[in-house]
Amino acid sequence: MVKISDFLNLSARENVERALAKAREHEAFHALLSLSEDRALERAAKVDAGEITGRLAGVPFIAKDNFLTLGDTTTAASKFLENFKAPLQATAIEKLEAEGAICIGKANLDAYAHGGSTENSAFGPTKNAHDQARVAGGSSGGSAVVVALDIVPFALGSDTGGSIRQPASFNGVVGVKPTYGTVSRYGVVAMASSTDTIGVLSADVEDAELVMDILSGQDRKDMTTLPDFFVPTLIESPKRIGVIKEFMTEDVDADVRARVTEYIEAMKTKGHTVEEVSLPMVKYALGIYYIVVPAEISSNLGRYDGIRYGARAEASSLGEVYGLSRDQGFMPENKRRIMIGSYVLSSGFFDAYYLQAQKARTLLINEFNKIFESFDVIVGPVAPTPAFKLGENTEDPVKMYLADIMTVPASLAGLPAVSVPAGVTNEGLPVGVQLIGPRKSDALLLALAKEGEK
Ligand code: GLN
Repeated sequence: MVKISDFLNLSARENVERALAKAREHEAFHALLSLSEDRALERAAKVDAGEITGRLAGVPFIAKDNFLTLGDTTTAASKFLENFKAPLQATAIEKLEAEGAICIGKANLDAYAHGGSTENSAFGPTKNAHDQARVAGGSSGGSAVVVALDIVPFALGSDTGGSIRQPASFNGVVGVKPTYGTVSRYGVVAMASSTDTIGVLSADVEDAELVMDILSGQDRKDMTTLPDFFVPTLIESPKRIGVIKEFMTEDVDADVRARVTEYIEAMKTKGHTVEEVSLPMVKYALGIYYIVVPAEISSNLGRYDGIRYGARAEASSLGEVYGLSRDQGFMPENKRRIMIGSYVLSSGFFDAYYLQAQKARTLLINEFNKIFESFDVIVGPVAPTPAFKLGENTEDPVKMYLADIMTVPASLAGLPAVSVPAGVTNEGLPVGVQLIGPRKSDALLLALAKEGEK
């Protein structure tokens, strides 16, 4: 796969043209929703003229289409925003541009990032980079596929419950979901504000490290951002590694378990100590997630009323403007989550569902804190299976939700987690291993992942 360094010796114009040509060559995967050719070439000219410099000068990248960018549309893969032109840019995009990087297009996703396969996109699914009959994973499916297909060396994604890690795993690339608050969420279409994080997908760990170094830091436009703590590091002493027992059971695909076990064996040979660790609360993680997240979704999506944003339906009364616009603008999965969220927040059910879920979430967080007193990092698979077939899980939403079991715990606790390639199944499908650490251990996780690549 291509690396950032492959782009630093050519002219920005050559880089951008190559990336655009590659994107067009791979149209069949439907990884992209738009290309931003004019703006990209304009910026390339400025880089080549020496007007823009930086650590990523002339390096092309792609952003998930829920990042607000100038120069093209920002759709969040929904009909509501099909023609929406953002009036501003996400802080993450601004930071990359300040280092000379060039956004050449926008990647497909599940509409509003609700999903785990990119099949909920209003514009059609993205296909897996290794097998076009299979899903790309999601919701950042497009971002993973453009990296796996060598179109760009890195792409931006958002991860609320696994949306960077799982597609990274399904396509054999690196995916970084940082500690909650590491990267500004300003200018990214909100899904669930208490677990939304911004991160990167790339061909290797070194590149992910560089991009995270650029992205991280406090932003006064996002009050949840943390003062910059991310400093790339190296592994200098043996670490205590815990293997998550609940994620290595018979229910998990045998090839997935085998690749993860091999990865862990290799960690042992580097001198780290490895022990099994149990997280009894993870059995409640999906239940907690699918109450708390829809609750926040139902609130965040309240702004799409056909008046303030995006498409407005033909209607004869104000009530109809709201109702029909929302009916036509949202995908079935968006509506399902709005309904679940409104239900669990409604008076009479609030105590039984939402409040109870938040209490259970605190117990999960406490359990993680306790475990990190004895372990530096815990590991396991990213998902129970490799990429599934297109259409395989679309009939039953609960089946789709069950595939998120391994990624939602870190999201609920705000912990950093990275997905790194750990080989392929007998059928040649990529398998990822997940490294999870305590809050702000992001640099350590990447250092371990880098050591594992060697
Ligand atoms: N698959 C998970 C969900 O559907 C995660 C989505 C995400 O992280 N955006 O909620």
